[in-house]
Amino acid sequence: MEDINSAQSGTAVETLAQQFPNTVLKPGSPRYEEENSRFWNRDNADIRPSAIVTPSDAQETASILKTLSDTKTDFAIRSGGYMPVPGYNTSSSILISTTHLNSIELVQGNLVRFGAGNQWGSVYDFLEPHGLVVPGGRSRPVGVGGFLLYGGVSHFYAEVGWACEAVVEFEVALASGDVVVASEKENGELYWALKGGGKNFGIVTAFTMKTRGLPKMWGGVRVAVGARETAGKVFEAMHDGIQGDVDEKAHVEVISFFVPQMCQSGDPMFALCLAYAGEVERPEALRGFLDIEAVQDGTRIATQRELADDDKQNIGYDKRGLFRAFSYRSNSQLTLDIYTEYYTLAKQSGMFDEDAGAMAALLWLPAGRKLSSGTSAISLGEEAEPYLSCNICFRWEKPEASKKMHAVADAIAEKLKKKVQDSGAFIPFTYGNIAGVEDTTFEGLPGKTRKRLREVAARYDPQGVFQKQVPGFNLV
Ligand SMILES: Cc1cc2nc3c(=O)[nH]c(=O)nc-3n(C[C@H](O)[C@H](O)[C@H](O)COP(=O)(O)OP(=O)(O)OC[C@H]3O[C@@H](n4cnc5c(N)ncnc54)[C@H](O)[C@@H]3O)c2cc1C
Repeated sequence: MEDINSAQSGTAVETLAQQFPNTVLKPGSPRYEEENSRFWNRDNADIRPSAIVTPSDAQETASILKTLSDTKTDFAIRSGGYMPVPGYNTSSSILISTTHLNSIELVQGNLVRFGAGNQWGSVYDFLEPHGLVVPGGRSRPVGVGGFLLYGGVSHFYAEVGWACEAVVEFEVALASGDVVVASEKENGELYWALKGGGKNFGIVTAFTMKTRGLPKMWGGVRVAVGARETAGKVFEAMHDGIQGDVDEKAHVEVISFFVPQMCQSGDPMFALCLAYAGEVERPEALRGFLDIEAVQDGTRIATQRELADDDKQNIGYDKRGLFRAFSYRSNSQLTLDIYTEYYTLAKQSGMFDEDAGAMAALLWLPAGRKLSSGTSAISLGEEAEPYLSCNICFRWEKPEASKKMHAVADAIAEKLKKKVQDSGAFIPFTYGNIAGVEDTTFEGLPGKTRKRLREVAARYDPQGVFQKQVPGFNLV
């Protein structure tokens, strides 16, 4: 099977190199090596595609897709390269990199249209002088492609819901070689499906999104020591923040982490990432978090770009990393139990003996009502209750530690999921952008949503190219 695949990819590389001589990069060339270094999880850079193809517009992307479809050649798609799942944004066959699809422009006054090769920082650099913002990634280097196609959690999630809800138009290259536009008016079913349905329909070459005027907002990171009592207060504040009437301008991401050299007291640390969509210092809606004693406080009035630039740790292409995730109905005592058990298990696992510089982190995305319901393909239904998405994240350097890190993460994730299931709070859907291979992403959506997604895929990709030839979270 492998021989057949490599023979197919060899033939396709030669065909593509003849058709598009300037877009096909082969191993060893400086541009190939530069492209192949752009993975948040360095394990993905070790996969080394037989060629990296870098189309410069939608039609070229579609023609490349047609060749790959006709020759039944496996290929992967990569935008920013921030999805850590091994082999989901690269392939030993062919990698299509959206690097050159990097235009950004304002259209019709208040919309921004940008190519799929952009990272959020470039979009914010462009919008800042206009005093405009979009619901995008909270860290500068995250790619626009994977982020928006699987949903996207921005500083404005409480008001907008998944960031993809603000996309008004997708430009899509299909496996047939055609380029189509998907919006409310044209190809409406594809438009719906792309809002959360991932890589399963085509390669999105450009996104057009609504912007809003917000020259400055409030936000930043407050760092606190994660002793049990503090953790209890953090989780109560997080729970209160998604119940009942919420202030939709308020944002919180609760990050906890343990790095042995930094956490010598034995307690993990919290990085409480707070934001408020207005020039309001210490907003009342975030009082519960502001009352927690901070050892460092980076909150201030700032632009969206400045807040996205805050994340300087753990964003580079220099380390290895993994995600696992699960969701549950919010309950502060259960969250405290999960937190305590997670760090106990991580410390006992031997992961820090394997790589003394490793980090174990546990993050929560409070999926309030606008995220749990809404119009996207990953809405859980109009009446769906708010929930918490919990993300396990490890980061390490040594390549030889990768196997152990994945085994430890799998074992911990299984124990924590069981704990949540036993408590009766488990929600089967997991947000793909924070998930691992074994986590239930599309499987956890309502049956009628899954059927509708499969129907859209069958209509726009009748040969099943994006199911069979492209790695990533498939439809089920
Ligand atoms: C440091 C860090 C910070 C993060 N911050 C946030 C955050 O604030 N909010 C949040 O919601 N998530 C966040 N994430 C998760 C992030 O959204 C996902 O990793 C997301 O997939 C990254 O998008 P990308 O384009 O960089 O991904 P890639 O790794 O390039 O792609 C991810 C997946 O999408 C597919 N894909 C990418 N582009 C296209 C395209 N144009 N057409 C079709 N398929 C495509 C790929 O094939 C792959 O399967 C963060 C992750 C990290 C590591």
